[in-house]
This record gives sequence, structure tokens and C-alpha cells, in this order.
Amino acid sequence: MAVDSGLSSPLGPPACEKDAKALQFIEEMTRNPDQVQEKILAEILSQNGETEYLQRFKLAGATDRDTFKSKVPVVTYEDLQPDIQRIANGDRSPILCSHPISEFLTSSGTSAGERKLMPTIHEEWDRRQKLYSLLMPVMNLYVPGLDKGKGLYFLFVKSETKTPSGLVARPVLTGYYRSEHFKKRPYDPYNVYTSPDEAILCVDSFQSMYAQMLCGLLMHKEVLRVGAVFASGLLRAIRFLQVHWQQLAHDISTGILNPKITDPSVREGLAGILKPSQELADFIIQECSGGNWERIITRIWPNTKYLDVIVTGAMAQYIPTLDYFSGGIPLACTMYASSECYFGLNLKPMSKPSEVSYTIMPNMGYFEFLPHDPSAPPLSRDSPPRLVDLADVEVGKEYELVITTYAGLCRYRVGDILQVTGFHNSAPQFQFIRRKNVLLSIDSDKTDEAELQKAVENASLLLREFNTSVVEYTSFADTKTIPGHYVVYWELLVKDPSNSPTDTVLKQCCLAMEESLNTVYRQGRVADNSIGPLEIRVVKSGTFEELMDYAISRGASINQYKVPRCVNFTPIMELLDSRVLSTYFSPAAPHWTPERRRTD
Ligand code: AMP
Repeated sequence: MAVDSGLSSPLGPPACEKDAKALQFIEEMTRNPDQVQEKILAEILSQNGETEYLQRFKLAGATDRDTFKSKVPVVTYEDLQPDIQRIANGDRSPILCSHPISEFLTSSGTSAGERKLMPTIHEEWDRRQKLYSLLMPVMNLYVPGLDKGKGLYFLFVKSETKTPSGLVARPVLTGYYRSEHFKKRPYDPYNVYTSPDEAILCVDSFQSMYAQMLCGLLMHKEVLRVGAVFASGLLRAIRFLQVHWQQLAHDISTGILNPKITDPSVREGLAGILKPSQELADFIIQECSGGNWERIITRIWPNTKYLDVIVTGAMAQYIPTLDYFSGGIPLACTMYASSECYFGLNLKPMSKPSEVSYTIMPNMGYFEFLPHDPSAPPLSRDSPPRLVDLADVEVGKEYELVITTYAGLCRYRVGDILQVTGFHNSAPQFQFIRRKNVLLSIDSDKTDEAELQKAVENASLLLREFNTSVVEYTSFADTKTIPGHYVVYWELLVKDPSNSPTDTVLKQCCLAMEESLNTVYRQGRVADNSIGPLEIRVVKSGTFEELMDYAISRGASINQYKVPRCVNFTPIMELLDSRVLSTYFSPAAPHWTPERRRTD
């Protein structure tokens, strides 16, 4: 029931007093983003003006935009890596930030095969928490009654490591779930989860998922929304149900927890929740035993009003599968964030995935926008790029996001390409177009062209003794299987047909490619089981020439034609698949440990 608090919002009638305040905050921030941005930059520069990094650019205490833009360069992770490495190695002097670095957040973006380390500070969680606190007030405008039930969210922590100096390094969400902000969050009737915190905080991904699914089943009638951070995570949960429903139903029928759940705190967390119910167990058996998984989400959780998962960007590939499992209920993409900085939220969370726009909240950091022109020459120090402020971006144009944060990143290129779709008040709204240089992605892995090339090169070394080489290749992220997996099409030149590569060697080539891929990929394969074994499909000789003929018939220039290193256009896939001679899967998991390779 909406409140009439005198605080009513242009966004719509708030559901309660707390929501009214949150919506009012959004209004304040978006009415004059330019002023907010000016203030934020001045705050960051006065906080960090004495740092070694900013001292290098001789700002002489200036905190205005013009001086900042004229003196401080636009950088990438590689530019900052020596400074970041010093912090990781224990240098506690104010290098990037005047506040002590509290931990490193390990981005899913990689550098030299390792996760990027993003320094952060304690107070940053307050800012991020503030953005989280805006999500439900916006959702409540569109979906009433969410205080009458619970959210089934599959949330996970991942393993963490320590840098040589003892600073913790972990993914941002692991940091958040382990923070007091999450663990001691005040009760909010609009934001109650079925999963006990003990289940979310369990590092063992099987036990965590099992416990969360079990709770979701036990409270199935109370569940009003089902979610995970990314679409791939929710699909993994459905796959888990497909594989483990019998054991889950058994636990519900007997009221006795599966002995494979050995983590004492998870067992304790479930103790008050798991009660025997033959009726519920029979219901689960009835829904799952027939092998029909269409609309399984809404069959098991009949009161689900929407799925809360990010399906923009690389995750859009999962929309058809999610629709199949849910019968097409709305998919809500609520927020846009990264390890470096949380950016903003979707003010119309019920909009279709293809129409989702995120409003960047100008209080989260200082944002600049590099006009994105793929044909422009690369940036050089002599011709600095002209960056546009948040309030000055133009509708229809594409930009790369550049951020300056309280934790010490200055004019840092995030690598995301965004397109301006409109404004809320004076704050621009952006469609996420894509991440630069990402060829393949199944879960949070991001593989670029150079990594794929290196993987193919390394694997093809195994073919040398057969006098065979890979003459062409391309790739495809196959998400028809759960988990999805990388498919790499190879055209081989076998010089001596009497000594052609054996099946065993081609399988080893799959594994050799996986061993070459970055740590996030290998973690997905080994620890998270979010990526399936890599597949090589060997195609007939001449296939890639046919691919070129096809591209030229569709208007490509013969002089400029380049083999696409990743394909997803159906006619091209059909052509490739119709020329497949044999397929091979990786026979084992690649090596992976949470530890970073030392780069110092
Ligand atoms: P990470 O480096 O692991 O923190 O991942 C952050 C990146 O995930 C962002 O820079 C985006 O590329 C992507 N991302 C985060 N939120 C969204 C979203 N709502 N839609 C599309 N991509 C997103």
C-alpha cells in the first residue's frame, strides 16, 4: 500500500516512509548531476591530493575539473600496476589513496592472465550499501506486496587469498557478503531472503548451493522473486535442481539433512528450517520426475513475480533459456556495478532486457566519458583524448566509461562501452553495449582475442609431431548446455595423412587450450563448475574459405576480410557445423589454485 507522506516522488508513489526517502535521494542526485559531480571530484581531490600518484601531476592543491583534466592522464590497469603491486607488497605510504587500503577486490577482468587487483577502502562499503538501499524502493514502485514474502537468491562467496603483505584479495561480492554491512543488515520486510547467511557464506560451492536450494524448496510458497547476480548463476541453480532433486526431496521427506553437508555452520543455519513434510517432498517429486523442465521455476515457486538477474551485456545470451524455465515472467536487471566502483541502477526494472537503461548515480564517483569510435587511432600521450562529463553526454552516442574513485583510481578506463538512451531529470541513462575486447564469456570469465590466439598456439604445439598445423580457427560460446562451454572450430592442415593426429592428442589439445586461458576461466572450470569442458570441432579443409565467400557475398570487402575469431550469426554457425568432421572435449579439468602468480 503506497504511503502519502508528503514525500511522494515523481518516480511514483513510494511503498513506505523509508522508500520515500530513497526515491527522494534519487531525485536529488539526478536533478543536478553536474553540481554533484563537481563536488565529488573536489572531495576526492582534496582527500587524495597528497598522494604520491596525484603529486606526480602537480595539481598544486587544485580541486577543479579543468586543472584535473589538463594534468591527470587517462589510464588503464597496466599503467597502475606498478603502484598496485607496491601496495600489494606492503608499502603502506599513501600511494593512490590517503586512506589505508582495506583490501583488494579481484576483478573478473584480467591482466597477464591474473585477476586485476582493485584497491578499496573501508568507507567505500557505505557508498555501495547506499546504492543497494535504493534498489527495493524502485522495485516496490512496480511490484507491490514484496513485503508479503521472500526472495530466493542464489548468492555465493568465493575463496580469498592474501597479497604478500597480508591484505585480503577477493571478489567484490565475497567482500560485501563477508562485511558487517551485509551480515548485520537491519531487518527489512521488503528484502528477506530464504537463504540463511550461513549458507551464503559457505565457501564450498556444493554445500552452499544445496543449502540454498533446500531452503528455497522448503519455503516455496513464500517465494515472490527468484534471483542470482548474473543469469548464468541462476541457470546453474536450475541445473543443480535437475541433478539433485531426488536427494533434496528425500531430505524434505525425512527431515534429515544430507550427510554431504558437513559444514557445521550450514547445518546449524538449516536446523530450524528443515522440517519433514511428505506432502512437499511428493510435490517436488511430481514436478521434477517427469523430465519436463519447461516453466520449472514457476511450477515449483508459483508466486514468483519476476526473476532478478542481470541479462544485459554478455548475459543476454541466456534470455531464451531463462524464458523456457520461467514461462517468460519478467526479467529484472536492477543494477550496474563493478569491483572498481558501483555505478548506478535501473529506474524501470520491469523493462524488457533489450530496453534496459542504467542511470549512473553521480554520487558514486567522478565519471567521464570517452567518445567511442572503433575506427579512431589508439590514444597517445601527445594527443590526449577529449572526455565528456556526465551531464554533457549526448543521446544516441557511444562512450567508454572512465572513473575517478575515492579509493584512488584516477581517470581509469573501465573498458565498458555504453550508449546514452535518454535522461531521468538531468542524469543520463545508459544502455550497456558491451565490454571492450571480450570475445568469449560464459559466466564471469572474459576471454579476449589475444588470449584465444595464445591458447590455440600453445595447443597446436602438440600437433607438431604429426606434422599438422591449425590453419584457421574461430570460436563460439555455447550456452545451450548448462554450464555453457567454449567451442573452438579448427581447420587443420595434415601434411602426412598416414600420421594424422590421434583422438587422444586432439583431446589433449582441448586441455592445453584450457591451461592457457586466464585464471577466471580456470576457476569457473575447476572451483565454480560454471563452465563446461572446452570443445574442439575439426572442420573440413576449405571451410574457412567458404566462410570468406559467404561474408563477401554479403558485402564484405575482399581486401579487408578478416576471419572472425568468434561467431554467433546463425547462418555462419550452420555452415561451420555442417562441415564438422570430428569433435573433442577436454578430458580433465585444467590447473587452478586461488593463489596468484607472483608478478614482482
Ligand atoms: P568485475 O570486474 O568482476 O567487477 O565485473 C564488472 C563488469 O561486469 C562491468 O565492468 C561490466 O562489464 C559487467 N557488468 C556489471 N554489471 C552489469 C550489467 N548490469 N549489465 C552488463 N554488464 C554488467
